Amino acid sequence: MIPYGRQDIDDDDVAAVTEVLRSNFLTQGPKIPEFERVVANRCGANHAVAVNSATSALHIGCLALGVGPGDLVWTSPITFVASSNAALYCGAEVDFVDIDPKTYNLSVDCFSRKLKEADLAGRLPKVLIPVHLTGQSCDMAAIAELCAQYGVRIMEDASHAVGADYQGQPVGNCAFSDITVFSFHPVKIVTTGEGGMALTNDPELDQRLRLFRSHGVTRDPGLMTHEPHGGWYYEQVELGFNYRTTDIAAALGTRQMARLDAFIARRREIASRYDAAFADSPVVPPFQAAFGQSAWHLYVVRVSDRDRIFAGLRDAGIGVNLHYIPVYLQPYYRKMGFEPGYCPKAEEYYAEVISLPMFPTLSESDQGKVIRTVLGLVS
Ligand SMILES: *Cc1c(COP(=O)(O)O)cnc(C)c1O
Repeated sequence: MIPYGRQDIDDDDVAAVTEVLRSNFLTQGPKIPEFERVVANRCGANHAVAVNSATSALHIGCLALGVGPGDLVWTSPITFVASSNAALYCGAEVDFVDIDPKTYNLSVDCFSRKLKEADLAGRLPKVLIPVHLTGQSCDMAAIAELCAQYGVRIMEDASHAVGADYQGQPVGNCAFSDITVFSFHPVKIVTTGEGGMALTNDPELDQRLRLFRSHGVTRDPGLMTHEPHGGWYYEQVELGFNYRTTDIAAALGTRQMARLDAFIARRREIASRYDAAFADSPVVPPFQAAFGQSAWHLYVVRVSDRDRIFAGLRDAGIGVNLHYIPVYLQPYYRKMGFEPGYCPKAEEYYAEVISLPMFPTLSESDQGKVIRTVLGLVS
């Protein structure tokens, strides 16, 4: 089976991990701040907080932004459930903004209309979580302008988009957001096994993210309410979690970041070959907005008669997948009152898409097989 995504681990990656295994620190050692610095520098953000998953980063991101019971968080319906679950963990409510039928990202027009209605109803969201689906950035300047107008904070779910650009600047620089989150799961662009990171330019948010990452405990006298009793002293000042990552994972992440540009270049090459192959066919390739450069986490095509084509590809040994089922159609969300038809564009998208294999080590011959099989099934 040709998978839809796969990590690329080389000998230097392995060496970086084994070096840590023989060192003094498996966790809470020097590799974690080093990894944080590498990602922050690459993306042009002031601060980066490494955690054990993007899900954890989204959760502590919501907490750092003050999301709690009675608050509302909005996101795209076409995302992994983790983007919206993060708000539920904090006791907040979630709502969804329908997608743009071209980019499949949250629609700025729908967002604008929904904000107007919410403002009239006195029910504005506290935080918006735009998701850079497949690695293509949302139109962040337009989103940020609307959010500024209505006092909405922004946390980018860039789980797909480390290495992407928006307006010539790296995604992750938080130029248009309070926090940006990356995932380092093995199907994503770079991996640490499990892992995630939250980036910000705001020193106070950085401090809060660090508190929530590790039990809400601090050793910084500046954050304490009492005089330290002695050198052993620490204080718990928030209800935090253990969302820390390990030095083992961080060492792998630092090595993988050194390969980021090569990963993206190879993903672009694969995307171009798919684009060319599907140009004069009924297969609709992914639209790319002029304002950015995708990281190409996923290559999503649209086809009519999707179910038959999906099954045909799986039968041919091609591990296609589907990203995503609209979140509000999940039984857990239906229980909150969401009904089919809530986001029509998201549901049209869901009815027609397939994610084709897309990863740096996809061989030319395997990609050729994917292309031939797709074209054979649609003709
Ligand atoms: C993968 C993913 C997540 C969760 O990432 P983990 O690191 O597995 O927790 C969140 N949001 C999106 C859009 C994702 O694709």
